[in-house]
Amino acid sequence: MSQPNPTIGEPHDYHAIARRITDMALADGRSYGMLHQFCTTIGHRLSGSPQAAQAVEWGRQAMIESGLERVHLQPVLVPHWERGGAETVILIADGKAEQLRGLALGGSVATPPEGITAGVIEVRSIAEVAGLGERARGNIIFFNRPMDPKLINTFDAYSGAVDQRVNGPVAAARAGAVAVLVRSITTAMDTIPHTGMLRYNDSVTKIPAVAISTVDAEHLSQTLRHHPNACVTIKTNCRTLPDAESHNVIGQLTGTEKPDETVVIGGHLDSWDVGHGAHDDGAGCVQAIEALRLLKALGLRPKRTIRAVLWMNEENGLRGGIAYADSVTKHGPRHIAAIESDRGGFAPRGFYVEADMPTVERVARWAEYFRNMGAERFVYGGGGADIGPLKAHGVLNIGLNVESHRYFDYHHAASDTFAQVNRRELELGAAALALLAWLIAEEGL
Ligand SMILES: [Zn+2]
Repeated sequence: MSQPNPTIGEPHDYHAIARRITDMALADGRSYGMLHQFCTTIGHRLSGSPQAAQAVEWGRQAMIESGLERVHLQPVLVPHWERGGAETVILIADGKAEQLRGLALGGSVATPPEGITAGVIEVRSIAEVAGLGERARGNIIFFNRPMDPKLINTFDAYSGAVDQRVNGPVAAARAGAVAVLVRSITTAMDTIPHTGMLRYNDSVTKIPAVAISTVDAEHLSQTLRHHPNACVTIKTNCRTLPDAESHNVIGQLTGTEKPDETVVIGGHLDSWDVGHGAHDDGAGCVQAIEALRLLKALGLRPKRTIRAVLWMNEENGLRGGIAYADSVTKHGPRHIAAIESDRGGFAPRGFYVEADMPTVERVARWAEYFRNMGAERFVYGGGGADIGPLKAHGVLNIGLNVESHRYFDYHHAASDTFAQVNRRELELGAAALALLAWLIAEEGL
C-alpha cells in the first residue's frame, strides 16, 4: 500500500528518509512476493533458454506493475549452452561401482556417448598439474582444494578456490588429461553439486569437466588413497548452440532536475540451470525493482534519474553488462554511479565502493543513515560483474555488501531456492539500495 504523497519535513533530513524507507520495506515490502512469483512460475533461467525469455517478460511486467517509467527491453545476443540429459559420474574401485553426484560445468563439452573412463589423479592446485608431467596423460584430473574455511568473508574464500573450476580444464588438457572433476566450490558439506563457468582456450583440446558434491569429493579422495588404481566413468551430454537473442530489462524514475544524470541499480536476470536462482540473482532483480517502487510510493522524486536494470547473461558471458555499457556510452544518458546486488538476498551490511580511498570516504560519509538497518559498513571492494564494463567509462561501481556466511552454501546449485530466502533480510536489502540510490541522486558524487 502506498502512502499518499506525505510531506517529509526537511528535504535533506536523510535520517527521516532512511527511517521511512526502512519502515515501508519491512512493513509493506514487495520484494519477497515478487521473488516468490518469479521463482515458482519461472524457476531457473539459463541464457538462451525458454525460461530466460519468460524472465525478460516477467521483469518488464514487474517493472510496469511497480510504477517504473520508460520500461523497455534492450536487445542482447547471448551464448546458448545446454546441459542436455543428466550427467553421470561412476566411481569404480575394488570391483564395486557407485554413482557420484555430479553437475557438468557451464560451457563443458560432451563426452562420447559411451562416456570417458580413466584413472584419477587428485591435485590441490593448477600449479600441481604442471608438475605431474607425463603422469597426467590419459587420466582424469580431480581438483580438490576446498574453500578456505578460516576466511570470514566467503567471497574471499570463493576467489581463492574458483580458479580450479574456471582454469582447471585447460590446465588439465595441456597436461594431456582426458577430463576434469572439480570439488564443488561451496562452503556446504553436502551431497549437492555446484556448477559454474569454465573457460576453454581455443588452442587447447576441450575436455569435459564436471563438479561433484563436497561429500563425494571427500569420498573420492579417501577411495583414491586406498585404491590408487580406481577409475571413474564420466558421461556428459552438453552442447553449445548458436548465440540466441535476449534482452536486458530497463525501467526508471526520471529525475526532476538533472534527468540526464543517472544512477543505476540492478542485478542479473539469468541463472544457472538448477534450483530457482533465488539468491543468485533473483534477489538482486526484485530488490532493484522494489527500491524504485519504495521511493515512488513514499513520494520521493529524485533530482537525478534512478534506473533499475536487470542484466541478462552474467553467468556465462556477461553480454548484458557489456551491451548496456556500450549503449549508454554511445547514446547516454550520462551515468554517475552503478550499484549491483549480486551477493544473495541476505541481511545488508553496507556497500563495497570500487574506487580510490578519497571516493570511498566520500560515499562512506553517508554510512550514518544506514546504521539503523545495520548496513553502515562502507569499504573498498568490488562492485559487481554486470556493472564492471561501466568502469572503463568512469562510472563509479558499488556493490551491496551482505552477510556472506550462507551464500556459497546455495550458489549455482539445486539448493538455491526461494525457501532459502528470508523475507526481512531481502526487503532490507531493497531498502539499502533505495536509500543509497536516493542519496547519490540528490547529492551527486
Ligand atoms: Zn550472480
